[in-house]
Amino acid sequence: MDAMHGFVIDRLAGWRGLVGPAALALVLAARAAYAAGSCDPAAPPQVTLTPVFGAPVIDTALDIAALQGIARGSASLHREFGLLIGLTTTQLIGRFEEVVEYGAAPPGAPGQPVCGIAREVRLRLGFEDVVVHIAHEVIADRCLYGEVYQHEDRHVQVDRALLAEAAPRMTVAIDAAVKAIGVVYGNSPDAVWRAIQQRVQAAFDAEFSAVEQEMHRRQSLIDQPAEYRRLAQVCGGKAARLVAASRRPPP
Ligand SMILES: [Zn+2]
Repeated sequence: MDAMHGFVIDRLAGWRGLVGPAALALVLAARAAYAAGSCDPAAPPQVTLTPVFGAPVIDTALDIAALQGIARGSASLHREFGLLIGLTTTQLIGRFEEVVEYGAAPPGAPGQPVCGIAREVRLRLGFEDVVVHIAHEVIADRCLYGEVYQHEDRHVQVDRALLAEAAPRMTVAIDAAVKAIGVVYGNSPDAVWRAIQQRVQAAFDAEFSAVEQEMHRRQSLIDQPAEYRRLAQVCGGKAARLVAASRRPPP
């Protein structure tokens, strides 16, 4: 019934890079240099990840027509929905910030005066703005309300389970990628930072887009034709009648 689980892209207006699968990755790179570092590669970088399990909020204010409107306005809508009496929307977010230590390159370094090394990368991954919409018309029917809620809650739980699995995996992968960067040389702290930032970004984008793909795969397993048929028929066929009624032009 919901059928749409996914992103409301325009909520991110003003954020950086809104096109493409990695669109939701926001880069917050901390440029704050530790003065006169030694760029010692022996000290391993610290990579930490904070999972964001957004608490779902139930919203019953919107009617069936309004839910259709949200779904149509969403970038994730690629098909017609037969029934739309529930809708879960959320924002998959991924962000990182990094702390780079700079120093004077030792004599003999490849002709570039500044060295730098990533000392810390802090990641955030998860789901924000989780809203379970249940159509206003449904609240009067306790049976149907329960069915719709349970269906939508499966979407929420799938995301939470995915995040619990993905968080440690992403931490390990980014940790390896950051270690592999090692010491970077450049003509200025800015050039060094950019080179490091690009490497972290590339590793992050790959991990993030894998999470995104897996999320879509798992979510689509919930919204199968058999499940829609079941929901249309439960509670004495109430859902099918509500949708039919909402399509009737106003008298
Ligand atoms: Zn669904």
